Amino acid sequence: MDAQKSIEDKFSKIHPCFPVNTRIAIVGAGPSGISAAYALSNLGYNNVIVIEKHHSVGGMCESVDIEGKIYDLGGQVLAANSAPTIFHLAKETGSELVELGSHKLALIDSQTGNYQDNKVADDYVSVISLTLELQDKAKDSGRIGVHAVSDIASDMTPSFLDSRGFKSVPKSVAYGYTASGYGFVQDMPYAYIHEFTRTSMAGKIRRFKDGYTSLWKKVSESLPITVMCQTEVLSVRRDTSGVKIDVKNSSGDFKSMEFDKVILSGAFPYRNGKIYRSPSSISADPENEVLELSELEKELFSKVQTIDYYTTVLKIKGLEHMPVGFYYFEEFMDDPETIGNPVAMQRFYSNSNIFLFWSYGNLANVEGSTVLQLAIDAVKRIGGEVEMIVLQRRFKYFPHVNSQGKDYYTESTTCLSCQKLTLEFRGS
Ligand SMILES: Cc1cc2nc3c(=O)[nH]c(=O)nc-3n(C[C@H](O)[C@H](O)[C@H](O)COP(=O)(O)OP(=O)(O)OC[C@H]3O[C@@H](n4cnc5c(N)ncnc54)[C@H](O)[C@@H]3O)c2cc1C
Repeated sequence: MDAQKSIEDKFSKIHPCFPVNTRIAIVGAGPSGISAAYALSNLGYNNVIVIEKHHSVGGMCESVDIEGKIYDLGGQVLAANSAPTIFHLAKETGSELVELGSHKLALIDSQTGNYQDNKVADDYVSVISLTLELQDKAKDSGRIGVHAVSDIASDMTPSFLDSRGFKSVPKSVAYGYTASGYGFVQDMPYAYIHEFTRTSMAGKIRRFKDGYTSLWKKVSESLPITVMCQTEVLSVRRDTSGVKIDVKNSSGDFKSMEFDKVILSGAFPYRNGKIYRSPSSISADPENEVLELSELEKELFSKVQTIDYYTTVLKIKGLEHMPVGFYYFEEFMDDPETIGNPVAMQRFYSNSNIFLFWSYGNLANVEGSTVLQLAIDAVKRIGGEVEMIVLQRRFKYFPHVNSQGKDYYTESTTCLSCQKLTLEFRGS
């Protein structure tokens, strides 16, 4: 498929439904906010302001410079067939992609540091027929992404696979899924596992040479929009006359702004939501609600669950022999009781001792300091020594819905088969 042509075709067939000078605010300059601005600009809207609390655009596609090299802390990898829109934007902005061909993909024993190649291809073969069958049915649904299979693959993964005669998700699919920050496969409706398998099973993987943030910077700079960075949205009030947004900038100055329409992006509205693997009695976010929600919106957003996923960057000596690549800590991949321990580690460059670790947390007892200590402990066991703690990020990752709004933290041990993905999100 020629992605460039198809995306331009799509824009040529739709027209703005409001006056083009409508004042539009977009909260958040992550990929979804910048993509919304891109789409609006393509439709001819000329009065778009993006408001971002951080110093840069990019959101969770955050790249940082450490000792003169660019590291991606969140979004990094693109599979050949998974992201035609991103590749389209890369082409349009002249952003260079590099193949991660020399990157090893290995399983590492966290007790000894021994590692061995992960045989991904063999494992994927066993689910190809199921993936193709679901993909065919998805085409008929007229929907895209995970929504295209939400009717047919909404059962929780263990019961879905059992009904199809599979014992479990093949190891490398499950490990790839968990190491990507999407949770443990047994906690998720199969629709998500399918979408991961479908998009990651073919082709080479690549990343942006100058880091993922560089793409979003170039896209935002190419658009006739205003981007206000270091500006935090404190409150959004909507009424029939429009939208009032209160913001605070980095100098601590407050300002009230008025718009006709607002687009909220990222995890901004999910303060009411749940956090993965955290008891529902603990509130998702103690901060005050910034958005006045209708009853329906409250109900809707309260069903969205995000995952506390940590990236910890350490400078390590003693692991110079390890090739660049991704290493999965096998013993922490299957059992959600082990959360806090790193599920994956990456050596980015052969001439640098900077390593990235990825770990799940929760709001009950696994927060940043625990995650950091467990990563340092793992480094010691595999024969390294931490020279410097470079940084840590806690991402509110993978907003997703579960089955009929139930809290599987308490229910997954009782009745997996009766849990279904809620369909209330569509059309309401
Ligand atoms: C560890 C990790 C690994 C990942 N790996 C990959 C990968 O390999 N490939 C890939 O394609 N994707 C990957 N992703 C996913 C990708 O980063 C996300 O899908 C993407 O960033 C989501 O974009 P978004 O705009 O919806 O949200 P975000 O990226 O979260 O952007 C939301 C923005 O809103 C801003 N914001 C929030 N509240 C306010 C406020 N009150 N006022 C102003 N601004 C506000 C935030 O600062 C942020 O910039 C990964 C993510 C993580 C965390």
